Amino acid sequence: MTKTIIGFPRIGHHRELKFATEHYWKHKITADELQATAKEIRINHWQAQINAGIDLIPVGDFSFFDNVLDTANLLNIVPSRYRDLNLSQLDEYFAQARGYQSDTKSVKALSMKKWFNTNYHYIVPEFDKDTNIQLIGTKLFDEIEEAKSIGVPVKACIIGPYTLLKLSRFLDGTNRNSFIDALVTAYSDVLTRLNEQQVNWLQIDEPALCFDVDSAEKKLFDRLYDGILAAKGKTKVLLQTYFGDIRDVYNDVVAKDFDGIGLDFVEGSYNQTLLANNGFPSDKILFAGIVNGKNIWRNNYSQTVSKVNEIASHTDGKLILNTSCSLLHVPYSAKDEEKLPSDVKQHLAFAIEKLAELGDLDKVVFERDHKVLDANTSLFQTIKHPVNQSVRTEIDSLTDDDYTRLPAREEREQIQHDEFKLPVLPTTTIGSFPQTKDVRQNRSKLRKGEITRDQYDEFNNEKIKRIIKFQEDIGIDVLVHGEYERNDMVEYFGEKLDGFVFTQNGWVQSYGTRGVKPPIIWGDISRNAPITVKDSVYAQSLTDKPVKGMLTGPVTIFNWSFPREDVSPKESVTQIALALQEEVLDLEKNNIKIIQIDEPALRENLPLRKTNWYSEYLDWAVPAFRLVHSKVQPSTQIHTHMCYSEFGDIIKAIDALDADVISFEASRADFTLIDQLVAANFKTEVGPGVYDIHSPRVPSEEEVESLIKVLVEKLPINKIWINPDCGLKTRSEEESFESLKNIVNATKKVRRVVNEPNRVS
Ligand code: GLN
Ligand code: ZN
Repeated sequence: MTKTIIGFPRIGHHRELKFATEHYWKHKITADELQATAKEIRINHWQAQINAGIDLIPVGDFSFFDNVLDTANLLNIVPSRYRDLNLSQLDEYFAQARGYQSDTKSVKALSMKKWFNTNYHYIVPEFDKDTNIQLIGTKLFDEIEEAKSIGVPVKACIIGPYTLLKLSRFLDGTNRNSFIDALVTAYSDVLTRLNEQQVNWLQIDEPALCFDVDSAEKKLFDRLYDGILAAKGKTKVLLQTYFGDIRDVYNDVVAKDFDGIGLDFVEGSYNQTLLANNGFPSDKILFAGIVNGKNIWRNNYSQTVSKVNEIASHTDGKLILNTSCSLLHVPYSAKDEEKLPSDVKQHLAFAIEKLAELGDLDKVVFERDHKVLDANTSLFQTIKHPVNQSVRTEIDSLTDDDYTRLPAREEREQIQHDEFKLPVLPTTTIGSFPQTKDVRQNRSKLRKGEITRDQYDEFNNEKIKRIIKFQEDIGIDVLVHGEYERNDMVEYFGEKLDGFVFTQNGWVQSYGTRGVKPPIIWGDISRNAPITVKDSVYAQSLTDKPVKGMLTGPVTIFNWSFPREDVSPKESVTQIALALQEEVLDLEKNNIKIIQIDEPALRENLPLRKTNWYSEYLDWAVPAFRLVHSKVQPSTQIHTHMCYSEFGDIIKAIDALDADVISFEASRADFTLIDQLVAANFKTEVGPGVYDIHSPRVPSEEEVESLIKVLVEKLPINKIWINPDCGLKTRSEEESFESLKNIVNATKKVRRVVNEPNRVS
């Protein structure tokens, strides 16, 4: 036994699970038909792993929506408002994942959050006073029977109790500690069941051990596992960690009665130091994560072999080759990609290719197979990422001045107030207006060659004209062109910049049935022509009010793409920043006086450990943003937008972006962040979203008015902007138009009360 993986993507080779599930939701197929498709997908995936010679195959990694939700349901952690709906098990599960609506009842979905530092989202379990933890689910055990029946060497998989507690919400005054004993019993029961099923291995996922772990949390971990491991029978227990190293608990973990310990040697390279410094117990097996589960490049065997040899020297040679994390985060297979140039394609390894890589590495490491190694070495010798020498030279010659916008923000603020003469509490939107059916059809007609580029542009121009008029009519102060030309805020820029390549079928699950197809950074990035200037200039030509230029920021473009491994993140993001700087200066030259640079993904790539937030990330991410706008005139106003309000702990970094205005999500009346901003003496002007665009509900004028009044009480009135909390792309026009009217009218009312018609400094 030498190789395993942590999990396999479950959406299916051609996203069969997505389509079947969505059909089920629309009542086009029955639950049995959905289950049949799911079974077929599972069997295909197991078969693919058997064919690749994987000796321990994860079972339980399949999910109709999310694994965290699966584990919560396995253990009866289901809030009673869903139970009370009296639905089938499957429908109760979907009700938690996506809400439930019938003629008589309506229940909101559980909330959703980003899964560690990935673009995957999990469903947040909810514990309350009625939570009665016990092993009641059967999905895991049924799938194990199914797998055994076709000869799968089973490794059962569940999310561990520590991670579950770390990621959950606790209501009614409950807290983590109230549930430890019940969890110990439930996980022990899982072990007992697996014993009865004669399962050899249980993989318990505990990625939360890669966060900083303090002494209280260490105690929590101890109590949970001392309890659970006492129930161990014949089924061996693998503690599987990923997305980083486990420096805070390493000694604790190796001292416990686990049979296997899974460490990530890709993102958690410090695990190697931990091994070297502390050794590894001889009675355990190390599951060594050496094939990158998050990126899509071929593994460099000679580098990996040296790493494995070094690791093996601390474990008496006892180790199993593993992926660094679940393959959930990469697409199915690179073989499908017909349009990629072969010199690119041969360097790609998606899930299926990674299975083969484990087989190869097995041969190289354990059988010293030179042919396999040599073939891989020569592949790496031929790799030719397009180099753009002038971009590289430009980066080499950057100095602090290039990252510094002058004059300082306070001075700019005055200049801009004089320049724009906006009323107090200026109103604006985040950029996109609803992408109605006709907008999407227009794009697909262009793609299929059914219309010319001119016809496509003409259609969008009509849309722009109409939306500019709408915004003028209702009295918005700073307008947008509506982003009708964009399908996706990253893909749109990727396609227009040099250096990116695109897949046809490279789907990665984002949440539930939703997927993304991230662009791949292949070469040096540069801009060969203006990207957004034409649309912005056209929109501005239709009105005397300012129209915001609209760009996706360098960090977001980078974070939502597959990065290169041969150049540093800092280098790539700086290349993107320089390309965007050219765009910003072109917009300015063409009389676009307000430019928004969106960074919705800035927060999600923060390293798991707080101590690394700056040194490994913000120290290059924040300057990259500044590089984009540092050269504009003092009167040009730079906006940015972020889609979350959880930036209480990175307020300083956000201020250091040195934007003039930031809009962010602050709906659900959670204005605690505002207090934090005041306390931190936040300098950027702010537009906390006054309504939640993620919900179809139209906020009333009164509701918005009272929110604005709260803002006015807390913040200096000259620093406040009024806007929704995100783009309106996914909403209907009806809802959006109505909501915006209410916002504008509410603002006007407050303006009359505060009696300060114009912004002054
Ligand atoms: N400008 C973008 C829009 O309005 C921002 C999207 C986002 O924040 N995710 O759609
Ligand atoms: Zn947003």
